Amino acid sequence: MFNETQYRPTRAVINTAAIKHNAEQLISYLPKKTKLIAVVKSDGYGHGVAQAASVALQAGAEMFAVATPDEAMTLRKTQPTADILVLGLSPVSFAAVAAQHRIILTVTSESWVKQVIAQQPFDNKCRIHVKIDSGMGRIGVRTEEELAQLVKCIQQSDLSIDGVFTHFARADEEDREPTRRQFERFMRLVNCLPEKPRLIHASNSAGALLFPEYALDAVRFGISLYGIPPSDTVAKQLPFKLKRALALETELTYVKQMTAGEAISYGGTYEAVEGEWIGTLPVGYADGLKRSLTGQEVLIDGKRVPIVGTICMDQCMIRLPREYPEGEKVVLIGKQGKEEIAIEEWSERLNTIPYEIAVTFSTRIPRVYT
Ligand SMILES: *Cc1c(COP(=O)(O)O)cnc(C)c1O
Repeated sequence: MFNETQYRPTRAVINTAAIKHNAEQLISYLPKKTKLIAVVKSDGYGHGVAQAASVALQAGAEMFAVATPDEAMTLRKTQPTADILVLGLSPVSFAAVAAQHRIILTVTSESWVKQVIAQQPFDNKCRIHVKIDSGMGRIGVRTEEELAQLVKCIQQSDLSIDGVFTHFARADEEDREPTRRQFERFMRLVNCLPEKPRLIHASNSAGALLFPEYALDAVRFGISLYGIPPSDTVAKQLPFKLKRALALETELTYVKQMTAGEAISYGGTYEAVEGEWIGTLPVGYADGLKRSLTGQEVLIDGKRVPIVGTICMDQCMIRLPREYPEGEKVVLIGKQGKEEIAIEEWSERLNTIPYEIAVTFSTRIPRVYT
């Protein structure tokens, strides 16, 4: 988090009102009974878990989801009462800790439950959600027999079934058929349960936005809570406007005019033309500005200018249309004037998805909240 001991002008500015807007819009879009599970794993997709969770709760989120036991313990410090679900698998040794801190675990295997039974009994029951693999192929029970056996085993333990869920692999694609098949398979297994758990849930952001008919008791809203569409396909069919929460900003720290043929940065891969103005930015690949982003544009004075030469660990250079003063504001991701650079520009250039970019801004970049 930003504090006065951080003097470098490079920072991620997080608009908490945007997160609030996205959560509120989703809640009013989905059926009344559907709860919002705010997914705040990986430090709230790089936005800061404490702040993201707090604003999601204000907007009406009923529960949080994280990926790991450690993330749950971290979130517990700032959210002493809210329900927290760990989406990934936890070691058996964590079950007692989870029971004590009222953290909800994901359970998929009978052998895991048997190991819990073999431990000391808990003071209070540990709530769990059973994960069903309906076609993601990652974790979860896949057959009715497996599910029946698992449930029988859970009933003899200090675990109590609070929910059952699955995860869509292709809800962000044009073809709706794979998701429909997954939903059908999931519901077939859910209907085998001896009693209906409190929460049946299936959808991620793409599912929540494009398949409101699969909303069930809750949706797990991750990337789009932060205003980023999961894919171009989803971006084209959004039921409401998402507001982007993150901007990445810095300032010019050095400005100079070059003569023809002078080289810029490691390897001398870029040569200036006569009279070219070059600016230096205090941001580099150690911050998450990947080396292969050379050529990517940034915004200065409301205009797009390219990063030139090799990106260094802590700095990079940009081509300026004219002289600008040191201290001039530069936007790497976000809006300036009429121009906007979305995180997708980076992910397309890097052949990946915006999710991966959001979680790789390093902790060296202070997050500032507005
Ligand atoms: C990460 C994750 C989500 C959230 O997915 P988004 O596409 O970011 O909305 C939901 N469910 C599970 C199991 C996840 O791992």
